[in-house]
Amino acid sequence: MSIFHKARPLQGQRALVTGANSGIGAAVAEALAEAGAKVMINYLEGRDNAEQVAERIRVKEGQAMIFQADVSQENQVESMFDVMVGYWGGIDILINNAGLQQDAALVDMTLEQWNKVISVNLTGQFLCAREATRHFLQRGIVPELSCSVGKIICMSSVHDVIPWAGHVNYAASKGGVSMLMKTLAQELARHKIRVNGISPGAIKTPINLEARDTPEEVEALLKLIPYTRVGEPEDIARAVVWLASDESDYITGATLYVDGGMTLYPGFDNVG
Ligand code: NAD
Repeated sequence: MSIFHKARPLQGQRALVTGANSGIGAAVAEALAEAGAKVMINYLEGRDNAEQVAERIRVKEGQAMIFQADVSQENQVESMFDVMVGYWGGIDILINNAGLQQDAALVDMTLEQWNKVISVNLTGQFLCAREATRHFLQRGIVPELSCSVGKIICMSSVHDVIPWAGHVNYAASKGGVSMLMKTLAQELARHKIRVNGISPGAIKTPINLEARDTPEEVEALLKLIPYTRVGEPEDIARAVVWLASDESDYITGATLYVDGGMTLYPGFDNVG
């Protein structure tokens, strides 16, 4: 007998991906659907992109719906979960992915920039995790779907451990996500809810376009990456599917660094 559970490991499960109309979230939504999940694609702006992600899923005979909500707004988050549970009868997987940067040197950073990044990147993950957990607990375990009651995956960053000068709001938010994730994992494990984190390194998405504008900038970036390539959203998506599936049952409170070895820096020199 194989130790692997299923060819489509998420068959019949229902997943919500926040910020899924772009970058990593879009790739994650498509990969979850390919693994058999129905996917709600959350977006804030850019409805057309959200529709396109949903369409790409439907073309491959997957199921998807889109929902506009600001993850930092409690009432919008509650409505999003109500709609999802209303349509699909529940939720099995939450991917807390939505995030943004508003960079400035400390002396120039406004309170508004600080609050904005903390409220989307950290408070947004708290609000969605709380809502998902309420639904997980109401429903209990469904053995045909998964041996867990629910799975939450928190998108963090290598900057949850590497300080990032000029980005104090972002680094603080991701450090917070790391502790949010571990504390929830500890609190919810006895309910058979698994909570894990993924910390991407440099992945090609709109969030860091400016840092990859010129060949010189890309070269500078590659000096930080032992694996000598910038990551693709699909690198993250594959890890998410595994962490959401029963293949990773017994893993909770862990952070998977999907970063081509970036967190092995310093003590590394790609030039030599
Ligand atoms: P992206 O800009 O393509 O995606 C971010 C998504 O979040 C977008 O869809 C955006 O609309 C959405 N979003 C922003 N504010 C929102 C809000 N208030 N409510 C709902 N959605 C909102 O960038 P990405 O790189 O795909 O980022 C996805 C996640 O990965 C983020 O949490 C980011 O911090 C993290 N991350 C990215 C990298 C990288 O190199 N790309 C590295 C480390 C971590």
